[in-house]
Parts: sequence; C-alpha cells; structure tokens
Amino acid sequence: MNPSVDDKPTLGPEDARHLMHDRFGVSGELTELDGERDLNFKVTAADGTRYVFKVYNPAEDPEFVALQDEALDLIATAGVDGCPRPLGTETDDGSVIRLLSWVDGEPLASFRPHAAPLLRDVGRFVGRVDRALAGLDHPALDRDFPWDLRHTAQTVGTNLGAVEDRDRRGILERQLQRLEELTPRMADLRVAPVHNDPNDYNVLIRDGHLPGLIDFGDLLKTWIAGSAAVAVAYGILDKRDPVATARAIVGGYHETHPLEEQEAEAVWELARMRLMVSVVMSARQRQLAPDNTYLSISERAAWRTLERMSEIHPRYAAYALRDACGLPGCPAGPAVTAYLERQSPAPLVPTELASQGLHVLDLSVAAPTMGQPGESTATVATRIQREIADAGAAIGIGRYDEVRRCYVSPQFIPESDEFPERRTVHLGIDVFAPAGTAIHAPLPGTVWSVADNDGHLDYGPTLILHHRPADGPAFWTLYGHLSRSSVAEQEVGREIQRGDVLAEIGPFPENGDWPPHVHFQVITDILDLHGDFPGVAAPSLRTLWRSLCPDPSRALNLGPEAVAPAGPDGAHLRAAREQHAAPSLSISYDAPLTIVAGRGAHLFDDAGQAYLDGVNNVCHVGHSHPAVTSALATQATILNTNTRYLHPAFNDYCRRLADLLPDPLEVVYLCCSGSEANELAIRLARTATGRRDMIVLGSGYHGNTGNLVDLSPYKHGGRGGSGPPSWVHVAPLPDPFRGRYRDEPADVCGNYVKHVRELASAHPPAALLAESLSGCGGQVEYPPGYLKGAFDAVRAAGGVCIADEVQVGFGRVGSHWWGFQTQDVVPDIVTLGKPMGNGHPLAGVVTTRAIADRFANGMEWFNTFGGNPVSCAVGMAVLDVIEDEGLRENAARIGAHLKAGLIKLQDRHPLIGDVRGRGLFLGAELVSDRRHLEPATDAASWVVNRMRHLGYLLSTDGPDANVIKIKPPLVWTEDDANGMLAALDRALEEQRHQP
Ligand code: PMP
Repeated sequence: MNPSVDDKPTLGPEDARHLMHDRFGVSGELTELDGERDLNFKVTAADGTRYVFKVYNPAEDPEFVALQDEALDLIATAGVDGCPRPLGTETDDGSVIRLLSWVDGEPLASFRPHAAPLLRDVGRFVGRVDRALAGLDHPALDRDFPWDLRHTAQTVGTNLGAVEDRDRRGILERQLQRLEELTPRMADLRVAPVHNDPNDYNVLIRDGHLPGLIDFGDLLKTWIAGSAAVAVAYGILDKRDPVATARAIVGGYHETHPLEEQEAEAVWELARMRLMVSVVMSARQRQLAPDNTYLSISERAAWRTLERMSEIHPRYAAYALRDACGLPGCPAGPAVTAYLERQSPAPLVPTELASQGLHVLDLSVAAPTMGQPGESTATVATRIQREIADAGAAIGIGRYDEVRRCYVSPQFIPESDEFPERRTVHLGIDVFAPAGTAIHAPLPGTVWSVADNDGHLDYGPTLILHHRPADGPAFWTLYGHLSRSSVAEQEVGREIQRGDVLAEIGPFPENGDWPPHVHFQVITDILDLHGDFPGVAAPSLRTLWRSLCPDPSRALNLGPEAVAPAGPDGAHLRAAREQHAAPSLSISYDAPLTIVAGRGAHLFDDAGQAYLDGVNNVCHVGHSHPAVTSALATQATILNTNTRYLHPAFNDYCRRLADLLPDPLEVVYLCCSGSEANELAIRLARTATGRRDMIVLGSGYHGNTGNLVDLSPYKHGGRGGSGPPSWVHVAPLPDPFRGRYRDEPADVCGNYVKHVRELASAHPPAALLAESLSGCGGQVEYPPGYLKGAFDAVRAAGGVCIADEVQVGFGRVGSHWWGFQTQDVVPDIVTLGKPMGNGHPLAGVVTTRAIADRFANGMEWFNTFGGNPVSCAVGMAVLDVIEDEGLRENAARIGAHLKAGLIKLQDRHPLIGDVRGRGLFLGAELVSDRRHLEPATDAASWVVNRMRHLGYLLSTDGPDANVIKIKPPLVWTEDDANGMLAALDRALEEQRHQP
C-alpha cells in the first residue's frame, strides 16, 4: 500500500523534540517543513549544526526507508557530495523516525534566472545521482507507484474526473490519445533504479552554484529517461523558452549518465507526462485535502507549462534534445544531404546571368558591406550591386551558415528566460540579382505553400516546394523575397518540373525591404508549417538548425565557397591571448566577449549579438562614425607625417581646440594618450614653478607611466600598490556620499578645501592635479565650490592647477564642454585624451602662454606621432560631429532622463544607495545597507555581468568596485536609456533573489 496524505503523522514540535532527543541524543530547535505524506522538521542544534528529523507516515514500509539509507550511502560512496547523509533510523509507535544531515541551499524554484550553465550542472548532478543508484538492488524498488511514468495513462485516466475545468480536461484527453501512439515506442526505454523526483524544490543550489538533491522518497526502478524528464518538467515550469531549459538539463544529464538515442528523444514527452500526472494528482488531492496548499504548489504553473508545451512542435523539441545530447538533431538531415550530392539541379537563375560570373559577398558581422544603422535599403543595394559589378560578375552569393547583424527587427529576438539571443545565423544561400530576374526550380516537386510574409525584414512573397523523390528522402525547398505578381498564379499542390520558372526576384520594399535577391533554403522537416519557416537561427542552436536546414549549395551547383568559414571561438582566442598577453591585463566580464564590430552606440560580438555600449567613453560620437572613419581614411591615403612641416590641418585643429577652451588657455600640445598628456602637464607645472611636489585627490587615476602611478591613489593605494612617494600628497576625495564629512553637510566643501590648503602650505606644490569629476573614484561629483576653493588654496601657495579632462571632456557633462566649467573655475593646464580621437590615439595639453613660454627653456619638446595630419583630421571630424549632431545637448537631455530613471529605480531597489553624476557621466553606488553604506561589491559585479547577458555593457568602479558606472558614447537615444533602465530593473530584482 502507498502511504497516503490522510495518514500524515500529527505530532507537535514539542513532542517531536523529545522523541528526537530520546532516540538520537540530539537536541535543538525544530521548525516544521513542507511534506506531502510525512512529518518533516528542520533541526538547529545549539552548536549550529542542522539536521532533518522525519516522522514517517505509519503506512510507510520500514524496508523502503532502509532502502533509502542504502541509496544515500551508495551516493556518498560514489563521491557525490550534495545529498543528505543518514544519521539514524528507528521505529516509534509504528512509525519510522529518522535523522538526516541537512543540505544547505536554496531550492531551484526560488530564484531566477536559471542560467544555462547552472541548469547543465543540475542535469549533471541528477545524472551522477542516478548513475550511483544504478547499483541498488532491492525488491522495494519494484513498487507500484502512481508517480511511475510507466503508468501515466492509467494514473491520468483514473484521476481525470478530478479535473474540474472542461478545457483543461480536454487537453489531458487529447494527450492521452497521443500517448496511445507514443507508448509502443517507449516500450524499449531502459529501466533502472533512479531518484525519480528531482523537482525544483528537491534540487537545491548550494553556495550559489553547486547543485544538491534531497528527498529520496520517490526512489523507484523505472525509466532512466523518466528521472531526467522530472528534472526537465519542473525546470521548465513557467519558462518562456522551455526547450532551452530542457536542453541544458538533458545535455548535463547525458554527460554524467549517457542517454540512448531513443531516450534523448523521449525526454520531452516524458516531461509532459510527468506534468500530466502532477496536475491530476493535485486535482485529486485537492478534493481530499482542500487545505493542504503544498499539494497544489506547482499545479497552476504545471498547467501553464502544459499549455506552453502544446505550442511547440513535439518533433522540434525531440530534435532539440537529441542535439543537446550530441546526436544529429533532425535524423533526416544526413540522408537529404547525401541525396542532393547525387543530383544535377537546374540553374536557379538564367544561365546567361550565371555565366557572367558569381561573386561571393561577405555579409558577416564584421563586413564593411553591412554599413551603418539607419542606412536606406537603396544605399545598401547600390553598394552590393557595385561590389558585384566591380568583381566583374552579374550574380552575388550570400553565404550559408554566415553570422550576420542585419536581422534587427523584433521577430529575430525570440522570447528567452535567461538572455535575449538574437537569431543571426543564415540558414539559406542568397542569390543577388536584379529585381525581375526569373527563378527556376532546381529540382522537381509540388507547391507546398505560397504566402506573403510581409513584416519588415521578413521574406515578403515566399514559395515552398515539397520534393518527394522516388529514390531519396522527402524534403522541402524555400524561395523568399520574390515579387508579389510573380507568385500570384502559384497554387498549392501544383506539379513543378525541374527547370520550370517558379517566380521572379522581388523589388524592395515588397520583398521584405531587402536589396533584391532570392533566399534559397533546404528543409529536412517542415514541422507542419506552411508559408513560412525560420531562415536564420539563434547561434546557440546552430547545429540543431543545420540539421533541419542543411547546406543547400549542392542544390545550386555551388561549392564550399558558398558556406561561411567558422571564425575562431572565444575559448581559443582566450587561450591564445593568455599565451602572450601580459598577465596584468584584465578582461571584462565572467564570460568574456569577442567583439568584432561597432556601430553607433552598439557593439557586436562574433555571434552577431548586439550590446548597447554603456561604458566606452572613447568612442564618444559613436562607434566607427562614418564622418570620422572617412576623415581618417582620406587623410591616411594622402599623407601622414610628423609636425616638423607646415600643415594647415595642425594649425586649424589647434586653433579650434583653443577656441573651445576659456581664456587664457591658448597654447596646444598634441600627443597620443591621456598618460602622455598628464606627463607633459607635470613637466609644464614643474618647469613653471621650479618645484617638484604635487597634490592629488584620493582615488584619482591619471595614467599608466611611473610618475602617473605615483600620482594615482587608485593605483598606488590599491592592490599591488606601495603607496605614494614623498613628493605626492593626497587630499581626501570630496565624495559627498561616502566621504569622511558625509555627516557634516553644513560645510562639506570647506572641510575638504581645508585639507588642500594644509597640504599646500606644508609642502608647497608645483601643482594640484585633479580630475574635474572623479571617474575611478566612483563617478563622484564634487560639492559645489570645491574646485574654486582648492584652486585658490594651491595658487595662494604658488602652485598651478591642472584639470584632467581625459574622461569628462568634450561635452560629456552635457551642460558644458568641460567638466571644470561645472565648478566655475579656469585651470592653468588642461589635459585631454580618450574621446578626442573617437578611438584614434589622440590626446593633448592646453595651457597659458605664460606657462608655455617658461617651458620653452631651450630644451625641445617633440612627439613623433602627436599632431600628425591624420590625427588632426580625425580630431577635427570629432569636433564637427559633436557640434553638427548636437551631442553635448544630447548628453544633457538623455543624461537627465537616465538619472531621473535611476533615481526612480532607487525607490524600488534598496541596493542603490546613491545616484550621481551629470550628463552622460553617471554612477549608481550599490550598498548592502543604506545606513552604514556597506559596499555591495559582489552584487555590483553580479548585476554588471547579468546586464552583459541582457545586452547592456556597463562596468564597476570606485575604491570598493561597487559603483555601476555609465559613460556611454554620447549618441544614446531615449529608447536606449529606457531599455537600459528596464534591464537594470530586472537585473536588480533578480539579484535580490540570488541563492
Ligand atoms: N586620466 C584619466 C582621468 C583617465 O581616466 C585616464 C584613462 N583611464 C588617463 C588619464 C590615462 O589615459 P591613457 O590611458 O590614454 O593613457
């Protein structure tokens, strides 16, 4: 007999405590835990050790409890850590009682997102447990149990009446009918002892990343694939993309407990069966015990998930799981490829065109052909036609399996639970020829469907043919981007002979708004679709989709040149980098990115995924801005040399820069990096004053040279640093949020200035070197009046004032061109860098005539690369773009919008302690409690890594690395800002629930 809910023991915690102490000698605090049939307590002993104390249902078979102890011992012997250890088993008053060790962790159910690597680990872990259990041998394993998936039809059939909702009962009835067809195929699935209940409350995540597994009460000899399927059934609850979750779990399980082909294929249906059993059991038990909420804990989610599963083609899901286990996804793939190899297809386009020659186009992520965002279809079409003509050809070929970034409309971003993965991998071959070019059938077939997929960037008018050769497998071919009029006469079922004219290449925009071409694709299983079929795949599903849509080049008489070569993968690049790159050079994100292209505010990785750039303050006017790249390329093709010749570009650029700075800043030195600029500034200051000492601000960063590391508390005061030398005097960073005077708001500014005054009088300095707003200090804006007071103090002591504008200059702060203007001061020396060349190494120093004259003491100053005509052309183009596109004003507008949005997020997320900055130089400081300002460093790192997966690149800064910094290219739009805020909201919410 199976223990039932009705017989659940009713012992109170006090009695349980006595019983436990009496029998096992353990005392502690007891808290009751959820349980369907048995009474379970969490025990906390005085020394902090935790246990589980179980009082079994009197109907429980003591033999079966002994079997569970044996199972747990086997698991421990197999070296699997993460399951309870049995510490004692006794009987009391007809009930078995038992003490187990406590497994500390969070149930998988209690947090999101379920990242693919974690789910894979869960699958691996369950596989290891089941593998260890294979050694069990006991008659109690062969019990008759309603949760045995082999009895699904019976369990669901007998309990169907308990489901009150008619529609839902209908779903189960239909699935029961399907089950009749499926059952014979399941007869051969292997049977072995398995855990059989790795549900999302029994799977625990320990220390935030290690899986564990509890509750061996459903231990059973049944289908091995069934145990993996239970993990899948609960893993996919309420998932937007259940197949992705199932793939991760099954792929992991297969690694540690290999599944056979038919098992891999069956898991999806077995998971559905488990959910069917779950909903009928819940319905039935709700009838019996309406108050026990634990019983229906997963019921609603299980229903929603059954409904979601019914939207997914079962063959697709089976292929996806085969692929996850390293098998060919669609088993028909290889036979179709072999068949095509034997054919001699008719030419797709008229031979007179093809005979003029073919040109293979590079339309990959990093290809220049792909152009700029917002470019018109006509412009791209002209560029492609010109490239084909320049190559002396009449036809262009767009490659199979090519990763592209042109698929930008929403239909290319499928729903996802973990991160939005854009579909980017091309599954067909494109044949570019003028609109109106006739398209011929390469092979005989019948018309399967005719449709106009008229969404933007969709296929437009589309034909699909069905091929059923007598001497080979059935397959389909798809022809997209045709003209509307040419397919108007086509009819489903019509016979097509080899070489027949099928349609014509369509013009844009009716072809989906693409440069004119036909997209040709071979399909091995049409998945009962008509009219449309995916033509691009998500990179993570590349092998799966390659099996559904194999290389079509043979059907077009094309060779391997029509297939895009695979680029180096990230792991190889990383390993190669580690061989020769300096070990002190770090790399961003836990999962490093291979970035291959940039356009506007976006960067693209090698899988064609777009990331909104929120930290690159170098590509100030947008990545690869056409005005800047063309200025660079044009000047580079004419001349690049040093500044010892007269050249108008140098004069014009120096004049333009000087005009942008307030008087008396008028003399310009051009160099190649912020570090070079700051080095030169120190020399200017020292020569002008005849002094050596310098004052800098806490947490400041000024560059990577020896002097500048000495002058950068961010470096010499951080890891690996050995503090400032005697000539460097560090004044505290005037940080209104975290700084030492945060509790004395009355005269914060005066207090901080006092430090500078004291240092300046104790060690008369050559200069104060300060960022106008602090970057590495954590995006800190100084209190109003601070720089004025500090400059006065330094000048009174005979020193000069250097403003480091390397990060904040050129309009980033929005309200002004220069950060120091927000503090209403004029420095004696200003240093410039990063954004000045939009990525081209261009930096500079601007100072007064008096300082420059004193520096001209006879020793020549020369910089080999600084101020060359290419750099000047680039610098000039950057200034033009900032002004022509109103980017400073944009920084002010978008920055204000973003800051207001961050302040709103602060209301909902206690983690955000402070929001600060101006323009597009913003920071959000994360603290674990707002009173003591404990830095939430790990949380900040988690959020930034999560944002990377959500498609937003941010980073952390500040001495505690707990400030999320936002300093994007100035071209961000309001939509960009809103997207980032929404993603940040999601990431912060998820962070709160991390295990
Ligand atoms: N000053 C500041 C404020 C900076 O942020 C940096 C670079 N992070 C530098 C100087 C040094 O510039 P570079 O790396 O171009 O030498």
